[in-house]
Amino acid sequence: MKEYFSNIFTAFSTVWTGMKITFKHLFIPSVTIQYPEVRLQLPERERNRLYVNMDDCIGCDQCARACPVNCISIETVKSVPGDDLGKTSNGKKKALWVTRFDIDFAKCCYCQLCVFPCPTECIYMTDVYEFSEFDRDKLIYEFSTLTKEEKREKLERLDRHYNEREADKLGRM
Ligand code: SF4
Ligand code: SF4
Repeated sequence: MKEYFSNIFTAFSTVWTGMKITFKHLFIPSVTIQYPEVRLQLPERERNRLYVNMDDCIGCDQCARACPVNCISIETVKSVPGDDLGKTSNGKKKALWVTRFDIDFAKCCYCQLCVFPCPTECIYMTDVYEFSEFDRDKLIYEFSTLTKEEKREKLERLDRHYNEREADKLGRM
């Protein structure tokens, strides 16, 4: 008999404890927000998707070498005499055509280690953090502004330049 009443008491007290928590939360302001209509202010040093300003990239490869997961792929072609690649906004002379600059964001761990060694500060974090894709290949971002045809043309011109230089050397011998 004693156990019977003890069980009833336990049942009521546990329900009461649960209901107390429920009622308490009725008067606590909600902590969820109506995302995506409402967005939280991002912290000052957040890390998001990278961007590369190719106008300022000199193709030095330092960012790729700093990347711990090898998700930056850079290919360059040397310029030949007569090419005018101009200068970066901080005055560095450009000497390489950057024919490929891909970042695979499926591999990127957003460590930001690629950002610090860049001599022209042209690779940086943006405030974009919503860029999920169903297809992993779509997470490979191509930043080079040169087309495949332009890449081929630069390679051919460099080959021609080397050949002409060799022919010149042989002619002088
Ligand atoms: S943020 Fe880190 S992982 Fe991503 S590209 Fe830069 S160095 Fe590589
Ligand atoms: S470190 Fe900067 S300049 Fe050098 S290849 Fe990377 S993005 Fe370009």
